[in-house]
Amino acid sequence: MRFGFDIDDTLINLREHAFHIYNKKLKKNVPLDVFHTIETLEIHEPFGLTTKEGNQLWLDSMEEIYFTDCPAYPDAIEVLKELDKQGHEIYYITARPAKHCEETKKWVEEAGFPVQEGRFFCGMKDEEKIHTIKDLNLDFYFDDKPNVLDTLTGETVQLYVRDQSYNKHLEMPRLTNWSELKEIIREYENKK
Ligand SMILES: [Mg+2]
Repeated sequence: MRFGFDIDDTLINLREHAFHIYNKKLKKNVPLDVFHTIETLEIHEPFGLTTKEGNQLWLDSMEEIYFTDCPAYPDAIEVLKELDKQGHEIYYITARPAKHCEETKKWVEEAGFPVQEGRFFCGMKDEEKIHTIKDLNLDFYFDDKPNVLDTLTGETVQLYVRDQSYNKHLEMPRLTNWSELKEIIREYENKK
């Protein structure tokens, strides 16, 4: 089968990684339990920043956020490797800015994710992801962002939302740990 994955906050813990970087840069010590209550994608509010200041800090920190040691979510790498080994097709679809695409692909490979040539898509806008997802004729697609998932609800692809504090309102199948994927596939194959 053909599986599509968003990367940031779907396969890797990017916002939390950025939260640590913000604490360090701003010389603050905002505790992690505050992070888990943030209901927006943006993480600047607990640091007392305005939207403008927050956006600027994100832009200024982007390379450090993207290309240092952001951890993958538990089991993400192992589960994707296993899918790859079983002969499933794995596609990455990320809306990271075009200028960071090459390095992102390299980073994802070096982190241990299985990346096959021609199966890494990057640099589109959130609302443009639908075109790639439709063209690829995916069986499954996983993402965390409401404004991406909302564009896909009319499509035949099996959608899953990667559980996050800012997407609790979405009524669609939800995945909280990558170890759940095996069972999801088993159920899907049984239904066919
Ligand atoms: Mg994401």
